[in-house]
Amino acid sequence: MTIYRNFINGEWRESNSAETAPNVNPANTNDIIGIIKLSTREEARTAVAAAYDAFKNWKNTPAPTRGKIVAKFARLLEDNREELAQILTREEGKTLAESRGELQRSINVAEFCAGEARRLNGETIQSELAANFAYTIKEPHGVVAIITPWNFPVAIPVWKIAPALVAGNTVVFKPAEATPATAVRICELFEEAGIPKGVLNLILGKGSEIGDEICNHAAVKAISFTGSTATGIKLYEQAARRGAKVQCEMGGKNPVVVMDDCDLDLAVESTANGAFGSTGQRCTATSRAVVIDKIADEFVRKIVEKAQAMRIGDGADSQTEMGPIVDEKQFNTVLKYIDIGHEDGAELLCGGKRAAGENLEDGYFIEPTVFDQVTSDMRIAQEEIFGPVLSVLRVKDFDEAMIVANDSPYGLTSSIFTNDPNLIFRFIGEIETGMTHINSPTTGGEAHIPFGGVKMTGIGAREQGSTSLDFYTELKVVYVDYTGRKREGNLY
Ligand code: ADP
Repeated sequence: MTIYRNFINGEWRESNSAETAPNVNPANTNDIIGIIKLSTREEARTAVAAAYDAFKNWKNTPAPTRGKIVAKFARLLEDNREELAQILTREEGKTLAESRGELQRSINVAEFCAGEARRLNGETIQSELAANFAYTIKEPHGVVAIITPWNFPVAIPVWKIAPALVAGNTVVFKPAEATPATAVRICELFEEAGIPKGVLNLILGKGSEIGDEICNHAAVKAISFTGSTATGIKLYEQAARRGAKVQCEMGGKNPVVVMDDCDLDLAVESTANGAFGSTGQRCTATSRAVVIDKIADEFVRKIVEKAQAMRIGDGADSQTEMGPIVDEKQFNTVLKYIDIGHEDGAELLCGGKRAAGENLEDGYFIEPTVFDQVTSDMRIAQEEIFGPVLSVLRVKDFDEAMIVANDSPYGLTSSIFTNDPNLIFRFIGEIETGMTHINSPTTGGEAHIPFGGVKMTGIGAREQGSTSLDFYTELKVVYVDYTGRKREGNLY
């Protein structure tokens, strides 16, 4: 049985901890993939110390050289794409097609970041004074903690680690407990790409223990986190006390607005894709369909047809369209929200229970679920469920649709389906989300385009694309006086 090891100071070290947890295939809980040892706080401190010691040399390594290592990593990711996709499906549950897509996104991000290493530019600025040269330099913070969730266990670590390294930071990476195998492979590939000792460190274990230890360590200058809102806000509060930088990507409750002039089949297809793709376990998942009354009956009829036709099963089977929920805890959470939907008086149209059938009995499968007659005050319309559950909220017109769509503590992404250009531009102006899509699903993004949300979804600089290095760099401002004598007058 594989025992996953930590990667500290360039060495693969098995944790001394006696506490372990199995890495379970969510499609078949009899399939134990490996054993994760829940590292100790002391081991977490060792990882931070290794990153701290490695920082000076790494900072002084030219950025293009740092970029070459990330470029090599991108090539290795490409060479090992299929193997990683298989591991990802086995430990997280998503379909192989989804895993391959995630790998492609990760490769694109790593390639993009590698190129950014040659563009780590500051700016020269005109001074008010003669013989005075003013400019800025982008510098790394030092040790950065990277705390990631299980739902995109390759793409999210890559889109944080690659820019952190390119910028010259050293990293302590703590992945989610549920997805250790992909995290280990990512670090093995960085090792193969030639990452120097201590520059990237992996520590496996509980968020509440080692995550807590790392994020509160005085040597950790910045924390990039993706996960639940409760944890993100806690990290933000703690970091504020010691002035550490924080970037949090948290929950979503992403709406689609479906207008009565739209291409209804396109809206239905895109909503189903957004709601049930990746088993609804994406922060960009569509969880609310805000539909104009006039077409709502037809919309729900068509979306229920789609939901009921979906083939549920092991993601490793090429016929499968929707895989399992990641683990028992999350499985119970989704079922609890379905109960809450009933209690709140929403009308269940389809799904709503554990999926039964051949080869489904040993996995955490839930049927794609659609609730109709949902109102904005219901918990299923307000709280992130993170499962294949869609709420349909009926509205009379565009103005009411905007009130409902914006009635959320979250603001990650959204979309509208309409062919009216006036409504499209009004929607872009009024919707309170960090990203928005027109006539396409709420999900998806490109490696070179910024990603992130507003309100309770996002804190700190946007990730990816042209903004990917913003969080990982500090600006140093330099004034060079070359008069060679005491100057008349001062800068104010
Ligand atoms: P999810 O519901 O997606 O598991 P969490 O916020 O619980 O969301 O977990 C996201 C990541 O944060 C995981 O890697 C988890 O181990 C880590 N984590 C959880 N609690 C803490 C904490 N108190 N300090 C640091 N990291 C934590």
